[in-house]
Amino acid sequence: MKFNKLGIDEKIQKVLEEQGYQEATQIQEMTIPSALANKDILGLAQTGSGKTAAFAIPTLQQLNNQLIKTGVIRSLVLTPTRELAIQVQESFAIYGKYLSLKSAVIFGGVNQSKQVKQITAGVDILVATPGRLIDLINQGYIDISMIEIFILDEADRMLDMGFIHDINKIIKLVPKEKQTLLFSATMPKEINTIVNKLLHDPVKVSI
Ligand code: AMP
Repeated sequence: MKFNKLGIDEKIQKVLEEQGYQEATQIQEMTIPSALANKDILGLAQTGSGKTAAFAIPTLQQLNNQLIKTGVIRSLVLTPTRELAIQVQESFAIYGKYLSLKSAVIFGGVNQSKQVKQITAGVDILVATPGRLIDLINQGYIDISMIEIFILDEADRMLDMGFIHDINKIIKLVPKEKQTLLFSATMPKEINTIVNKLLHDPVKVSI
């Protein structure tokens, strides 16, 4: 399906054209309209399906539709690895190229000072691996109490990597009222537990 049928903002469509994307992928087609309607999404999709754009585009568009300068993080994206976190943040930067939203990425295994500097300068969208996020929250550098859109990417892999306790801590710190988009390649029962706790009447998308 063509992108203009999905209700995507022209400023984002322009980037998609520049990227040479002809049509939305299946996951994008099935996810973007519901996500733009502020619904929670449970997406079963593999890497390579175009899932990053499926959550990044509606997130950027919704934040941009209501531009408020709160100085706090409005969207949080959790990913299992540093590599994926970097990729996801790059996608936000690309798709949001013509918008004025700021994004940043944090992950463990490196000195935190550059990351802290970026965050304290103010970001709308934060992409993070769970351990470093908890670390910086505990040190008082990050506040996730104003999150409007919460995204878990590759949720099954985060559990495989032992992040369940961190994720449960993070869930307790985000507001009850928010939109949640959860993507996973598989649906083990631990994911179901999280889904039942976190998502409200989700639109289930499986490709
Ligand atoms: P992902 O599954 O999010 O890791 O995306 C896989 C790759 O597909 C990335 O390199 C994207 O740039 C690319 N991609 C995403 N959406 C589209 C699309 N609609 N048409 C062509 N390529 C796409």
